[in-house]
Order: sequence, then structure tokens, then C-alpha cells
Amino acid sequence: MKILVVEDEAHVAALIRRGLTESGYEVSVAPDGNTGREMALLHDYDLFMLDVMLPGMNGIELCREIRKAGLKTPVLMLTALGTTENVILGLDNGADDYLVKPFKFAELEARIRALLRRAGADGAKAEMLAIADLEMDLAARIIKRGGREITLTVTEYRLLECLLKNKGRVLSRMELLEKVWGVDFNLATNVVDVYVNYLRRKVDKDFDAKLIHTVTGMGYVLKEGAV
Ligand code: CA
Repeated sequence: MKILVVEDEAHVAALIRRGLTESGYEVSVAPDGNTGREMALLHDYDLFMLDVMLPGMNGIELCREIRKAGLKTPVLMLTALGTTENVILGLDNGADDYLVKPFKFAELEARIRALLRRAGADGAKAEMLAIADLEMDLAARIIKRGGREITLTVTEYRLLECLLKNKGRVLSRMELLEKVWGVDFNLATNVVDVYVNYLRRKVDKDFDAKLIHTVTGMGYVLKEGAV
């Protein structure tokens, strides 16, 4: 995992570099915004850590430049205490998370891990969803139950992905509409029922152990065993 740290305070940059290197990351440091921009566009990184206050281009402008160049790499902003307006500005300009200086190193590492996981770059484990003998490979978009591949339509796939990500939790029809179809108004929630039935036919019908359950008056839940 390669991380680019753009930080002008040499001792802070050195501390971050040393700590992250010990944790197995490959760390590059740029001392100002313009150098940071050049490096960001020239090399491949898995994550950017940008200080807000930088000589030349500041961290927020740099973040905007990175996004403008089409890079989707996670961005963690570093900001000084008491400058929360910077944080909002940073997030508005494409940053994914922020950390207020001074910070605990353990917290920095936790944020980095979370961002990398979200970006799907933290190894293959984060890209598999599973329950009982049902598994979904998010990277390859392959679904298997009992080792046998199941073919789903795009909507069925999104619905199953949503159920898997929330396994064990009851999802209301409204919630499913919002998450899977992207609508947040009360438009024919029976579309959810229709698709849950499609999914049942493919995922549960041939198996004794049913995974998709209806919770009367509430919605649906993906879980092992009876509700
Ligand atoms: Ca600074």
C-alpha cells in the first residue's frame, strides 16, 4: 500500500513516515502542494494524506485538483485544531475523511485502514460477502450458493448485495427502495416484493435452508435459521 503524505512541517511528516513505514506502508512525502500535485498525478498511490495549510497550493485546492484529474484515491485531510471550517471545505472538495492535529497515531492508522477498506484496496477479504453457503465476490461480481454459481440481473444483484451488507438486520421496503433503487419517496413499494421473489427463486428455492425471510409488517432480512 502506497501513501503520499503532503505535509510541510518536517517533523510531523517524519513522524508519520516512520510510523506508517513500521506498519508496512510505503510512504512518500511532499513538502508543499505543488510538489504533492505533481507526485499525485505522476505515480500510483492507494491513499493521500493532505495537510490543509501548505505553502503554495493548499491541501483543499490540492484535493480539488486530484479529483478534477479523475483520481478516486481516498483522501484523508489533516487539519489544525479549531479550524473546522477547513474540514467542511475539504469534504466539499472531495476529501473522504479528516483528522485534527495533534492526533494519536493509532487513530491515524484506524482511519487509514477504514479508508482503504472502503476503497476496496485492503486485500481480497473486504471484497467478499457471505452468509451460510451463499457468497458474493464483489470484485468479480460472482455469486455462489453451495459452490454453484447463480446468475442475477443488475437489480437482483444490487438487492442481494444490500441484504448481505445488512445481514441479520430487518430492512423495510422503504429502506430497500432507497438503497437499491435510489428513490426515497413512496412509489409502489411492491416493486421490492417482486424483486425479493425473483431473488428467492434463484437463491433459496433449491435449498432447504432459506436465507431470505419476510418479517410481517416490517420488511425483509437475510439470515440463517428462522426469524
Ligand atoms: Ca502545514
